[in-house]
Parts: sequence; C-alpha cells; structure tokens
Amino acid sequence: MCIFCKIVKKEIPSNIILEDDAFLAFHDINPKAPIHVLVIPKKHFDSFNEVDSETMKKMSIFMQETAKELHIDKSGYRVITNVGNDGGQEVKHLHFHILGGAKLAWQHLSDANPKEMI
Ligand code: AMP
Ligand code: ZN
Repeated sequence: MCIFCKIVKKEIPSNIILEDDAFLAFHDINPKAPIHVLVIPKKHFDSFNEVDSETMKKMSIFMQETAKELHIDKSGYRVITNVGNDGGQEVKHLHFHILGGAKLAWQHLSDANPKEMI
C-alpha cells in the first residue's frame, strides 16, 4: 500500500485541514511555502494521467473549499500536480500541492535550456 493510502487509512498520522468521504487535505511534511498543503483523492490513482473527469470535477470543488479553509482564497495561491519522472513526482498517488501564504516566486522549474529542447 502506498504512503498516501496509509494516510487515508490513518495508519500514518497527518495534519488534516479538510476531509470528506472522497478527499483529504493535509499539511505537507516538508513545506516549500508558508502554506503548503496536499489534496488527495481517497481512491488511489497513480497520477493525473489516470484520474477520471468526475473525480477531478469533485476534487476541484474540494480544493476551492480547502483554499477557503486556509484563508488564502482571496490572497491567492498556486495549485501544482507533478506527473512522472520529468514532472518530479515522488509519491505515486495523485496529489495536488496548494501553495500560498506569501507572494510566490515564479521560477522556471527545469535545469534544461528550453532553446536546446526544440
Ligand atoms: P511530489 O514530489 O509531487 O510527489 O510530492 C510529494 C510530497 O509529499 C512532497 O512535497 C513531500 O514533502 C510530501 N510528503 C511525503 N511524505 C509525506 C507525509 N508522510 N506527510 C505529508 N507530506 C508528505
Ligand atoms: Zn495510494
């Protein structure tokens, strides 16, 4: 069983912000912004590649509610999902990062020179 499935089953503790029957929002253990929260579906999908549109529709609403719960809906935030090797995905259970609480830098996230990639 993957680490986030264990968090869903409460076999591993997490700092939960919001939960319903299908989704969970909890604080990232290694925050990269003043507010760094992960939103996951309770059902296991390996990544964004596998998720169905009905789940995404409901998870979008859940993420909006999470941002409100964190009081960052007005100040702003960033939503990221990493997919696969090039995306830098470490945990193979679909999750969305919600980052906020400060003006975020917009760094390009690749070491590669884009001009050499064409
Ligand atoms: P990614 O690189 O997109 O797969 O992101 C995985 C994220 O999960 C990282 O930001 C980790 O800090 C976070 N993470 C890993 N284990 C835990 C855990 N037990 N509780 C909370 N966050 C975790
Ligand atoms: Zn899982």
